[in-house]
Amino acid sequence: MAPDSAADGAEPAPGGTRRPDRLDTQVLVVGAGPVGLMLAAELARGGVDVVVVERRKGPSTESRASTLHARTMEILDARELLPDVGTPPNEPRGHFGGLPLDLTLPGPHPGQWKVPQTRTEAVLEEWALSLGVDIRCGHELAAAGEVGDHVEAEAVGRDGVLRLRARYLVACDGEDSTVRRLTGAGFPGHDAVRELLRADVEGIDVPDRRFQRLERGLAVAWRNDRGVTRVMAHEFGSTARPRTSAPSFEEVATVWKRVTGEDISGGTPLWVNSFGDASRQLASYRHGRILFAGDAAHRQMPIGGQALNLGLQDAFNLGWKLALTVRGQAPESLLDTYHEERHAVGRRVLADIEAQALLLLGGPEAEPLRALLGELVALEEVRDHLAGMISGLDVRYPVPGPAHPLLGARLPHTAVRTGGRELTTAELLRPRGGLLLVLGGTGVRLPGGWADRVTAVAGEVGPGSPTGETGALLVRPDGHVAWAGRTEDGLAEALERWFGPARN
Ligand SMILES: Cc1cc2nc3c(=O)[nH]c(=O)nc-3n(C[C@H](O)[C@H](O)[C@H](O)COP(=O)(O)OP(=O)(O)OC[C@H]3O[C@@H](n4cnc5c(N)ncnc54)[C@H](O)[C@@H]3O)c2cc1C
Repeated sequence: MAPDSAADGAEPAPGGTRRPDRLDTQVLVVGAGPVGLMLAAELARGGVDVVVVERRKGPSTESRASTLHARTMEILDARELLPDVGTPPNEPRGHFGGLPLDLTLPGPHPGQWKVPQTRTEAVLEEWALSLGVDIRCGHELAAAGEVGDHVEAEAVGRDGVLRLRARYLVACDGEDSTVRRLTGAGFPGHDAVRELLRADVEGIDVPDRRFQRLERGLAVAWRNDRGVTRVMAHEFGSTARPRTSAPSFEEVATVWKRVTGEDISGGTPLWVNSFGDASRQLASYRHGRILFAGDAAHRQMPIGGQALNLGLQDAFNLGWKLALTVRGQAPESLLDTYHEERHAVGRRVLADIEAQALLLLGGPEAEPLRALLGELVALEEVRDHLAGMISGLDVRYPVPGPAHPLLGARLPHTAVRTGGRELTTAELLRPRGGLLLVLGGTGVRLPGGWADRVTAVAGEVGPGSPTGETGALLVRPDGHVAWAGRTEDGLAEALERWFGPARN
C-alpha cells in the first residue's frame, strides 16, 4: 500500500496548485482490508470507477487469518491470481470445533492453504492498483449519508477533510464499522461470552499443541519456521472481559500457566490479541445506496479462517452485480439479490461457528457432545457435509429456474475442449462478464442483445464430468450457475434477470 502522502487528496500537485479536496466517483469503498480490496478490483474489472478510503497509513502488519479455503482458491484462480499467491503449504486436515476433520473434497484446490493475511492483502492490492483503483490511505471516513441519488461522505486525512460523492458506498470497514454506526444499521446477535487469549511469542520453547483440552482449559501452540510460537489459551469457566484494548502479555502468560503449567513469561511478545465468541449479523446488507460486506456485515469468532473466506466471497458476489447496476445495464433489484444470497450464507456460517465455539470453549460438560460428534465425523457423509460447508464449496444460491443439480451451485471444476484447446472452468471464467457454456453440441445459442455482457463458448467435456456431458449452462461472473437446459427455454428470462435487458 502506498504511503499516505502520495495519495493524499490535499497534497500540493506538481506546479504548486493544491489537488481538489473533493472527489466524485462511481463507487466509494470504505476500508482496504482484504474484502474492500477484492470488491474494488472486481468493480474496476467491471468497468466502474472506484475510490477506496483507508484509515491506515500503510499496509497492515497484523498476524491475523492464515487460511484460504478451496472455494476462495477457485475464485483467485478464476481471476488468474494464484501465481501471485505462490505455492502455499497445503493442509488437508482442518478441524470442526477442534475435532480433526479432513477437508479434502473433489476439485483442483482440496484442503486448506496456509497464506498469511498480509500476503492475501498484498496480492489483492496489487491487482486492484493494476486495474486503476484509486486507494487513498491515511483517510478515515467520518461521515456518510445518502443525499438524493448519491452518497456523500467525508474522510479525514493528514491535511484536512476529503469530501467524496459517489453513486454507491460499500462499507468494508471491518468489525467496528464506522459506516454501520453512522447509518444505525441493525446488528442483532450477542456479544462475546467466552474468549481465547493469543500471543505470537519469540524465545519460548513449548510443545506444539493442536487444540489440546487439558483439565483446566484449552491450549494451542505452534512454532513457525522463524522460531515464533503462536499460543492460544482459554480457561474453562472463564468469561470474556469487556476490553477496549488488547490484553497484556502478562495476562496471556498467567492464563497459559494456569492451563498448561508452563511458564512463558520470559518470552518476547510480538503480537498480543484476544478474540471472543461474539456473533452478530446485519439485519440487512443493503441500506439503499449503502451496502456492507465482510466483517462490517457480520461478526464471528475467527475460527479456521472462515471469517476471511466468507468476506472475500461476499465481495465476489457483490462486485459484478454492482458494476452492472452502476453502468446502467442491470436494474437496481439485482443488488437485492446480494443481500438475499449472502445474508443466508452468512447466517449459516455464523451458526456453524457458534456450534464450533461451544465445542471448543465448553468445559467438561461439552465432552459427551464432543465424543458423539467425534463418532459422527468419522462417517463419510458427515465429513463431506462439514467439509463442504467449511470450504465454501457447497454454497448454493436460491436461483429461480427449472430444477437442475447445478442450478445456483458453483460451476464445478472440469476440463472443456473448445476451439482445439483444453481449458479449465476457472480459465473460462477469466474474461469479463458471464459465460454461456454449451456442451455436447446442443443447439442452444446466445440470444441477440447480450453479447456485450455474456460470452458463449461451445465445447466438449469428458465422460463423468461433474457438469454433465450435454446441455448448456449460463454462468454468472461469480461462477454460479444461473440457468441450465438442453433447449433455450427460459434462457432469455435468466439472461435478463442476471444481466439486464437485451441491448441491440
Ligand atoms: C485482531 C484480529 C485478529 C484476527 N485473527 C484471525 C484469525 O486468526 N483467523 C481468522 O480466520 N480470522 C481472523 N481475524 C478475522 C479476519 O482478519 C477478518 O475476517 C478479515 O480481516 C475481514 O476482512 P475485512 O476486509 O472485512 O475487514 P478488515 O480486515 O478488518 O479491514 C477493514 C479495513 O477498514 C479500515 N477502516 C476501518 N474503519 C475505517 C474508517 N472509518 N475509514 C477508513 N478505513 C477504515 C481498517 O483500517 C481496515 O484496513 C482477525 C481479525 C482481527 C481484527
